Amino acid sequence: MSLNKYMHPRNKYKTKKPNFQDLAFKYDYFKEMVKETDSGKVTIDFKDPASSRALTRALLENDFGLKITLPLDRLIPAVPQRINYILWLEDIIGIEKAARGIDIGTGSSCIYPLLGCRQNGWEFLASEVDDQNVYFANKNIQQNDMTDKIKVVKVEEDTLLMGLLENNEDCYDFCMCNPPFFSDHLEAQGVTNTRSDNRSDASSVSTASEAESVAWGGEVRFVSQMIEDSLKLKSRIRVYTSLIGKKTSLPLLKHFLHERQVPKISTTEFCQGRTMRWGIAWTFDETVTFPKSLFKEQKNVKPPLVLEIPRGAGGVGDYTVQAFTWVIRKYIEVLQINYYTKHCGKFYTCLIMQAKTNTWSNQRRKRRERARKQSVSEEGEGNRTAGIPVEGNSTSGESGEVKTPADSVEKNMETDDKCTVTSTETDAKIVAHSDNDTEKGSNVSKDSGIEEFATEKGDNDESKKSGQKRSNDENNGTEPAQKRLKKDQGKDCETSEQEKEAVTSDKSCNNSSAITLSRKDVVERFWKEHSENQEGKKKKPLSFYEKLEPFSESEECLLLCKLVLKKEEGEMTLTLTHQAGNKEALHQIMQFFKNKLAVKPKT
Ligand code: SAH
Repeated sequence: MSLNKYMHPRNKYKTKKPNFQDLAFKYDYFKEMVKETDSGKVTIDFKDPASSRALTRALLENDFGLKITLPLDRLIPAVPQRINYILWLEDIIGIEKAARGIDIGTGSSCIYPLLGCRQNGWEFLASEVDDQNVYFANKNIQQNDMTDKIKVVKVEEDTLLMGLLENNEDCYDFCMCNPPFFSDHLEAQGVTNTRSDNRSDASSVSTASEAESVAWGGEVRFVSQMIEDSLKLKSRIRVYTSLIGKKTSLPLLKHFLHERQVPKISTTEFCQGRTMRWGIAWTFDETVTFPKSLFKEQKNVKPPLVLEIPRGAGGVGDYTVQAFTWVIRKYIEVLQINYYTKHCGKFYTCLIMQAKTNTWSNQRRKRRERARKQSVSEEGEGNRTAGIPVEGNSTSGESGEVKTPADSVEKNMETDDKCTVTSTETDAKIVAHSDNDTEKGSNVSKDSGIEEFATEKGDNDESKKSGQKRSNDENNGTEPAQKRLKKDQGKDCETSEQEKEAVTSDKSCNNSSAITLSRKDVVERFWKEHSENQEGKKKKPLSFYEKLEPFSESEECLLLCKLVLKKEEGEMTLTLTHQAGNKEALHQIMQFFKNKLAVKPKT
């Protein structure tokens, strides 16, 4: 299977395969190597060293303007893979400023310095143990007019970084290396390596000499020595890197780095054709940021889980995004999952959820326990007032009842879009209204301790009145703590002028609860800040949500996911997208919503 889709996004071979016909037309040395298959396809024999060499030469000449001479008995570099390494380095050190690097074991091609210099103007100090390689590397530097930028040094076999840098005091931005992979010639010939028997033969030939592919202890010992050297050189080289040929070497080297308390370590994947290689990087400089592994990111991307919400789902009468957003928030709070709202609009809501522990399994048992606890506490306490849900760190109690201290009312400004919250000590009844609401109200099922309740048809005032009336009626004389939280539901959750008016008119409401008063204070403060903001600078004021301090998304948690509620062409969907953590947990939460948002048969 081709891994090209995981190639570095800036690698020109990712989307554009080399055109052999075109290359044959341009370069005679390549034309000699091409052959036509029965189906008319122009190709080369990848197992023939002369053909591989012609391809490398043609690609470097055609795509990078580099002239190269290679002996047939030394390693012939595959160009797309070498480009991946250079691009990864670009991502680490940046290409804005001129950089100076070291290439350990540059080979006869001197390919990394040639590419780095041509692409980014980087300067190089390159080392090599093999005389023939040193000769050809110098030849290649000369024929590309790079003698003032690249210097090749012949070193002894036990020399890596320390020996190379002992005679100068220069500092370097990075070092790179494609080390000899194998620990002995048997491994190099594939007799003792890890390639499984049922894998097909390698599709290309290796022309590497023994000195190039074999080093005592293989790449692990080679790179370990680089690490030891780096512990002495520390920040003289800003970023240390190496290519790794065998996946099994990675954990060993990472362990080695951790053991030596190297502060920053990163690994990546180089994908090309059917071959995968790895990169390892470490640094003592805290300012270095390593790029994310694109391979891991892309591989981890799982399609989101989608739930089509039918009309009447969960008994919610109002088939609007606002109503379901409100209901979903309630559930999230009941589950004590942290969340913040990224967007909240008429047709689209986006919440980021962070679950610390599994609070959704065994709901039935938990409900029974809650009911038991509640009935015990009822005997001891008087009537209690349910509050308003808190955005962010939910303060939902064990019982699923959502309480809000007065000082956190500010956080709730936008959470209860036109909701009437009524509560007795046994039930919390919730009515979600929508603007020009001609449909039924919404409800949250009893599972969360919140029971179904529908609003009357009619305009806002009417529904306000009727909601209040109903609450009073239904509470059968128990004293309700009723709040009316006004909001323009047709707008995104940024507070609008209309909302300001609505909020102001709220002042006239006969609400004496301490929570309501605090809320008004907060609303006023918000608008004061809002207008000050507007006066000061012309730039767009922060929305209420933007002002909220979301939790840290990088924090370790059981699950980090995105919840999107969307209404398109009249149909509503709930989508859960995994962002980090346990994927099983994502499925479980979706199942939880499926259960809650099922259409309940009429009784
Ligand atoms: N960089 C080239 C060649 C990699 S092969 C490429 O990517 O195509 C590894 C190279 O390291 C060989 O050329 C080998 O001769 C060289 N080498 C082995 N031990 C070395 C050492 N201690 N110092 C410098 N080069 C070394």
